[in-house]
Amino acid sequence: MSSVRIFLPPEKIKKEMILEGKEARYLKNILRLGKGEKVEVLDGRGKGYVYVISKLQSNRVFINLEQEREILNESPLNLILGQAILKRDSMEIVIQKATELGVKKIYPLITARTQLRFTRKLPRWRKIVQEAARQSGRGQIPEIPEVMKLKDFLRLPLEGIVLWEGERRRGLRDFLKAHKKKDLCILVGPEGGFLPEEIKECERKGFLPVSLGPRILRAESVPLAVLSILQYEWGDLGRCEVTHNVSISNVRF
Ligand code: SAH
Repeated sequence: MSSVRIFLPPEKIKKEMILEGKEARYLKNILRLGKGEKVEVLDGRGKGYVYVISKLQSNRVFINLEQEREILNESPLNLILGQAILKRDSMEIVIQKATELGVKKIYPLITARTQLRFTRKLPRWRKIVQEAARQSGRGQIPEIPEVMKLKDFLRLPLEGIVLWEGERRRGLRDFLKAHKKKDLCILVGPEGGFLPEEIKECERKGFLPVSLGPRILRAESVPLAVLSILQYEWGDLGRCEVTHNVSISNVRF
């Protein structure tokens, strides 16, 4: 596997390609790659294509396909995060870390206490997800749908848990003991938390309120803790046998 990876949409991937613009700058000026060196192009849907650099020009990099492979490092769990939009860097940290921890989709949500009602950050968040996926060698880029209100989100056919510091019946440990799921959505509130009515509504729609214990965590720490625990208990975090499970196939173009 080449350690140099770039993402391109599947329709752009050809046997021989000329990279220009930011991809060419990244390979040539930042990584200072030369002729004969390898680059892996990822399509964001689990396929990787290993290319060899055949020629470099001032702002163009010519590459030829050598090998095609399936990237099999996705977690067996389909974890989805519903995250109330957080202020400034906190949301970006959540998006980056959730991607490293193998989340499949992140819904940015507006709840009663989110401070922002509107955001132009979506393109930036999508860039962060792509960069985090590239860095952690993921073949799949998690999806970030348009911002939506909690009540619209709760109409989607999802089930899961809502993290609530006011929950006194069920801790995350209890939930893990009582359930074993492959598909799970975790819902995390904004800095000011959820309203009790919101928690009731979540419960009506099939989201179980779950506590993380006696201390209140900052909103941005919660997805990190919960995704780590779920991937560790049910997924692939801390397992080494699965990460080498890579298949290499012949080139088919
Ligand atoms: N402002 C609230 C806390 C909000 S913490 C208060 O002071 O009471 C932000 C979000 O993190 C919450 O909406 C919840 O989803 C999650 N959270 C933080 N600590 C938690 C805990 N101990 N158990 C479950 N969820 C927690």
